[in-house]
Amino acid sequence: MSYRAFNFSPGPAMLPNEVMEQAMQEFMDWNGTGMSVMEIGHRTNAFIDIAKHAEQSLRSLVSIPDDYHVLFLAGGATLQFSVAPMNLLRGRKSAGYIVTGIWSGKAQKIAEPYTEVKTICSSQATGYRSIPARESWQLDDDMAYCFYTENETVGGVEFQSVPDIDVPLVCDMTSSILSRPIDISKYGAIIAGAQKNVAPAGMTIVIVDKSLCEQVLPGTPDLLNYQLQAEHDCMLNTPPTFNWYMAGLMFDWIKNEGGLEVMAERNLRKSEGLYQLIDSSGFYSNEVDRSCRSRMNVVFYLPNEELTSLFIRQSEEAGLFALKGHKAAGGIRASLYNAMPSSGIDSLVSFMTEFELQHG
Ligand SMILES: *Cc1c(COP(=O)(O)O)cnc(C)c1O
Repeated sequence: MSYRAFNFSPGPAMLPNEVMEQAMQEFMDWNGTGMSVMEIGHRTNAFIDIAKHAEQSLRSLVSIPDDYHVLFLAGGATLQFSVAPMNLLRGRKSAGYIVTGIWSGKAQKIAEPYTEVKTICSSQATGYRSIPARESWQLDDDMAYCFYTENETVGGVEFQSVPDIDVPLVCDMTSSILSRPIDISKYGAIIAGAQKNVAPAGMTIVIVDKSLCEQVLPGTPDLLNYQLQAEHDCMLNTPPTFNWYMAGLMFDWIKNEGGLEVMAERNLRKSEGLYQLIDSSGFYSNEVDRSCRSRMNVVFYLPNEELTSLFIRQSEEAGLFALKGHKAAGGIRASLYNAMPSSGIDSLVSFMTEFELQHG
């Protein structure tokens, strides 16, 4: 096999070697057709099989009930910040947002043209390091849905359980989908950009309760209409065919590895390895409340900017890539999606231990 770096990118992010190798083997000739998946029409039987297989594989992996649509759509997760209100307001006056970081803040702002946007709670004033206590949440009867971001990719803040409220939940799972089992029945809708934990960039998966998307906002373009897309198997126009295929390979890989329980256990173990090192050192620090630390994006700080720059430079020399924190958060961010092997964490832990010994 060719050289593979330990790539800690927040997204687009690394995919498992087995998935990449299968894609490579099939790249020029899918299933004896003499054509690449990239080169075949979306309305051919060959592609329809690929698309159906991916959907079935995802449905069985997550146990998605029949009363939910599963959609594979072009465009990123950010587009869905507009599309969700267009489809899910159902004539109601407002929508509520739980703001625990940059992504949920952005989702709230983007929804403003479509409805009265209400803040259920926000941790912005304290620098997005915690999830406000349930008792403090402001809920209203007229909210069509409650939007939240399961894992805040920039700040490293993650819900460890599903919020307990009566309003239909709309969840941005872009950076946490398939990292552990999901109880779909607790959600009205789940949106997830593919490029963090599923497939190459350019596609978004939407899982939505059929009964919540029967009434779109007037003027909603057909391509952004969940129900219409579902009726046409997401082929109102040309879908992102290669990404869809890659997503199918990823679902099969997760199943072969043992499923979402196995992913959950691995992801917990990987992140705990890093948090233990950070907590036991006086050199590295993490400021997120322990009750909501992210398993997917471990954000931490060094004592000053010079050491942070040196850490980034030397970690790259050691084969550990893309550890620079988001510009809004600074510091270091290690993204540990399903494809990051535990050997990557071992290498990072060794590097960090050595770096602290030299500079601490
Ligand atoms: C990366 C990310 C997004 C944005 O995804 P795009 O596909 O670039 O629009 C949205 N939400 C979360 C939680 C993310 O991590």
